[in-house]
Amino acid sequence: MAHLYDAVIIGGGHNGLVTSAYLAAKTLRTLVLEQRPYVGGASVTEEPWPGYRVSTYAYVLSLLRREVVRDLNLKKHGLVVYPQDPPYFQPYPDGRHLMIYNDSAKTHEQIAKFSKRDADVFEEYETTLNRLAEFIEPLMMMTPPDPTSSKLSDLWSLLKMAKLARGLKKNLYDEVEVLVTSAKDFLDSWFESEELKALLCGQAVIGTLAGPRTPGTAYVLFHHVMGEVDGMRGCWGAVRGGMGQVSEAIASAARERGAEIRCDAPVEQILIRDGRATGVVLKGGEEIRARRVVSGVDPKNTFLRLMDPKTELPDDFHRQIERFRIEGSSIKVNYALGELPDFTALPGKKPGPQHKSTIDICPSLDYMERAYDEAKYGRWSSEPFVEAVIPTVYDDSIAPPGKHIMSVFAQFGPYELKEGTWDTEKEKFGDRVTEIITRQAPNFKNSVEHRQVVSPLDMERDFSLTRGNIFQGEMGLDQLFFMRPVPGYANYRTPVRALYMCGACTHPGGGVMGAPGYNAAREILDDVRRGRNG
Ligand SMILES: Cc1cc2nc3c(=O)[nH]c(=O)nc-3n(C[C@H](O)[C@H](O)[C@H](O)COP(=O)(O)OP(=O)(O)OC[C@H]3O[C@@H](n4cnc5c(N)ncnc54)[C@H](O)[C@@H]3O)c2cc1C
Repeated sequence: MAHLYDAVIIGGGHNGLVTSAYLAAKTLRTLVLEQRPYVGGASVTEEPWPGYRVSTYAYVLSLLRREVVRDLNLKKHGLVVYPQDPPYFQPYPDGRHLMIYNDSAKTHEQIAKFSKRDADVFEEYETTLNRLAEFIEPLMMMTPPDPTSSKLSDLWSLLKMAKLARGLKKNLYDEVEVLVTSAKDFLDSWFESEELKALLCGQAVIGTLAGPRTPGTAYVLFHHVMGEVDGMRGCWGAVRGGMGQVSEAIASAARERGAEIRCDAPVEQILIRDGRATGVVLKGGEEIRARRVVSGVDPKNTFLRLMDPKTELPDDFHRQIERFRIEGSSIKVNYALGELPDFTALPGKKPGPQHKSTIDICPSLDYMERAYDEAKYGRWSSEPFVEAVIPTVYDDSIAPPGKHIMSVFAQFGPYELKEGTWDTEKEKFGDRVTEIITRQAPNFKNSVEHRQVVSPLDMERDFSLTRGNIFQGEMGLDQLFFMRPVPGYANYRTPVRALYMCGACTHPGGGVMGAPGYNAAREILDDVRRGRNG
């Protein structure tokens, strides 16, 4: 049968869309198939209540690669990002607070309230992270080499890495420390103030089922400071129109380059003949033939549900996919508010710095560790780590006048609960989050006009995010770089010829970043140029 398409992409998450735009730009006839009525995956804007446009899942932007923004001209396609200033606000039970500003003198003053020594060292800490980021950044946009291979391309990439590592000189040891140590050990080596360490630690556990003492969490912290908004490294921003606008802008750029995007098109099977992907079958039976298939969905879905792994995969690869760690740990609680929270630690109901920043509720590393302990044993945290943003203080297009949206990301909530199910437990968890915020801002509970709780189970049901893991797979040491998603297959190819991967489960991992989609497109185009197929 004739091939209708040069490439069919399963899933219109932002990474699938990025891949489609780059393939279409090189005149490959490209089709994106998205099961939901709209594109975006975890990066969407939805309207749960009339007049409110809510970023249901992902809520802030920073990691989106500047190459993608530039190549796809996303600003022209409607992407507007408001940099957060100040970035962080953390209120404490005793009425004090810590604010991190973009201005270093103001930040120094804030940290000095807790430790003069930490205030003095903070700038050096940031400089060190920035220096390490300069090493890691090029790795993000590169295909990880297979260190066990003697292929020229792998050896060349290893050489490039060695050159980058040499450039770090003695800082290489800091780099290794960041990669392997726990967030607590890493932060203890810099600071003495529990408050500052707790504030910085939030980024180390986001999206992971791990506590501050878990080895490898320092890297997750680092992963989250890798981004930028308008050239400001580590800065996060609110997207005008919500996170769906990132995906819509990429989709618009992809269409302009000739890609076709079909929504309400769930893929049920990947067609494979003699070890080679030849197309897909949609729910309802429609067959779509293609020279290559690119999966933007997680490995469990791709290899265990969209094909028969026993007949189509080598045994060792099948085992690796079965073992791939993909545990959920995060719950989203989205609120519509009649007024802004009036924090005891920094009073005021008019938009102030406390409302413009990311609000973290986590007074100490031990608080965070205890929250994780409960999840380890199958319970949702009774005192969860709470991170909140109020995008309406930047963007007047997403809520009725005078109203606000608060987007809360809370941990921990394991996918599998010892008692009850998420259907019976999620509103109880939502009540708990409301209480935790009300402890810091007494007007909060009464200001809530609508609430939506999204559990790991909901994420799995909503857009097939296996077990609700927000990164399509744990970002642990064993699942990063040349081991993401599994060792030997970090180059976006798979054991099935002409079947590629392009989602967050591939290097460099999760976040609204576009890097996996960009790297996958480069590898596919390289195969096309060489007349190969995966
Ligand atoms: C609750 C939550 C909060 C987050 N917060 C942030 C944040 O603030 N900032 C940030 O940078 N990152 C955040 N992340 C992470 C980030 O959003 C994701 O890592 C990223 O969006 C993944 O994009 P993706 O394109 O790789 O995959 P996904 O977004 O998972 O997209 C996969 C797509 O495939 C579709 N699909 C699945 N199966 C099929 C099928 N059989 N047929 C057709 N289509 C299919 C799905 O519907 C989905 O649209 C968050 C994620 C979640 C879940």
